Amino acid sequence: MLAGQRGNALVLCYHALSETWPAALSVTPGHFRSQITRLLQRGYRPVTFADAAQAEPDPTLLAITFDDAYRSVFEVAAPILAELDVPATLFAPSAYMGTERPMSWPGIDRWLGTEHEPELMPMSWSQLDELAAAGWEIGSHTVTHPHLTRVDDATLRRELGESRVVCEDRLGRPCPSIAYPYGDVDARVMSAAADAGYRFGAGLPGVMGKRHALDWARVGVYRADPSWRFTLKVSRPLLQLRDSSPLGPLVNTALRRRSRRRDTGSRP
Ligand SMILES: [Zn+2]
Repeated sequence: MLAGQRGNALVLCYHALSETWPAALSVTPGHFRSQITRLLQRGYRPVTFADAAQAEPDPTLLAITFDDAYRSVFEVAAPILAELDVPATLFAPSAYMGTERPMSWPGIDRWLGTEHEPELMPMSWSQLDELAAAGWEIGSHTVTHPHLTRVDDATLRRELGESRVVCEDRLGRPCPSIAYPYGDVDARVMSAAADAGYRFGAGLPGVMGKRHALDWARVGVYRADPSWRFTLKVSRPLLQLRDSSPLGPLVNTALRRRSRRRDTGSRP
């Protein structure tokens, strides 16, 4: 099942929203609002990630996703999206949810102990529940946010399985979707994700031209993306080139390099 055969819904990957946090993963509320508004004006129809992944081919579908479950998504992004009547999908690392412990892993740990540390706080389970009740999809982002391709088989099973079970138990809803931390996924991880009960997996621009329901290509949106680059990233011809032409791997590599360079290796 290839995304290229399914109409390539546009799936965006955001993280946090903040006026002041200068991290690459932190988009300003004004930019976020204008990006989503422009896509709606262009005729995109917003759905959850799972709905996009299982829909009939339809290139007008738009899925807005957030990785890591920063509180700013609840406090800043959710009200903007509610105003626009747009559902979204949130991928939460289960070990952090409901704690008063700032999220910490390579890439964001540099903000610990700085004035921006509060930006790393995770959502509470009641906040996740509130978003789910408002039509959001809550998916897994593993338990502790490791590089899944680098962990042993037992850890892989636990990171995938436990996070899905906890998410379902705490929210009382199915959890068919996962976003792989760092977009780090390979055939072993996809197979383990299927074994753990996931049906849909969210990655980032990959190195393969062909896409799979368990490694869905997303477009990462970052603080440094000026308006013209956002427009380029979501342009239909570029996405079609990425997903359905022999040049796809080259496009993916270019997008991935661009993201890495901008994040100086710290993309979460
Ligand atoms: Zn993440």
